[in-house]
Amino acid sequence: LEVTGAPIFSEEGKWKGVVLVFHDISELKQLEQTRKDFVANVSHELKTPITSIRGFSETLLDGAMKDEKMLDQFLQIILKESGRLQSLIKDLLELSKLEREDFLLNVEQIDIQSLLRDLLPIVKQHADHKNVDLSMDIEGSTVIQGDSSRLKQVFMNLLANAINYTSDQGEVSLTFEESENHIMVSITDNGVGIPEEEISRIFERFYRVDKARSRNSGGTGLGLAIVKHIVEAHQGTIHVESVLEKGTTFHIEIPKKFTES
Ligand code: ADP
Repeated sequence: LEVTGAPIFSEEGKWKGVVLVFHDISELKQLEQTRKDFVANVSHELKTPITSIRGFSETLLDGAMKDEKMLDQFLQIILKESGRLQSLIKDLLELSKLEREDFLLNVEQIDIQSLLRDLLPIVKQHADHKNVDLSMDIEGSTVIQGDSSRLKQVFMNLLANAINYTSDQGEVSLTFEESENHIMVSITDNGVGIPEEEISRIFERFYRVDKARSRNSGGTGLGLAIVKHIVEAHQGTIHVESVLEKGTTFHIEIPKKFTES
């Protein structure tokens, strides 16, 4: 709370009282703090791979290059870390695009079930690689109004997370339901789960329950922030249920008809 005051005098110059103005600046302060945290987070996330790329390149140039095994190993690290930088920058640009005031969805009629079926072969590779069993039981076709490439992005992100945060031999499934005016897609895994007190925070930019695990699987910490933006732009909602060490379900509900806001 910011308070400013000024005395009031009568025409004869006699003191009559004071005016106090109370300014609630807590919301502004909060916004400013969020912005500062974001800049600090971005800087830190960029610094880590760059430090590693520089360090390994210097070591190679200092002579390690002559050892073929080291050359190969270090170049792999440099490639991986520059890939991380690339994903990070891609997600940052994406997020800033979604947050622009003039951002518009490219709304068209889409068969949402067919869109989901098309994702299967793409994520299957990822699941096989991690030895995770992936099932998707979707039949029929339901036409909704939405932005197909953005919605693909949502489900790809959630499926990739479900696979990443599930251990070997785990299971990930995607189900589809519809009511008169809405569709609901649920993605369930039997992976690591999310502690109850952290569930509300996972949509924040760069919030990760387990930093090392997220980084190792190539995560930028921005995926769910992007997902939430897209779902909300479709006037939909996203809801999470999770039990630690048992698994997680993300429910995405979207209206079939898009209304211009
Ligand atoms: P990341 O790139 O770290 O995966 P996200 O924004 O996609 O970033 O997710 C934020 C955090 O939420 C993750 O780091 C992870 O801790 C948690 N999380 C997301 N999806 C799942 C899931 N299916 N199971 C367990 N934890 C999850």
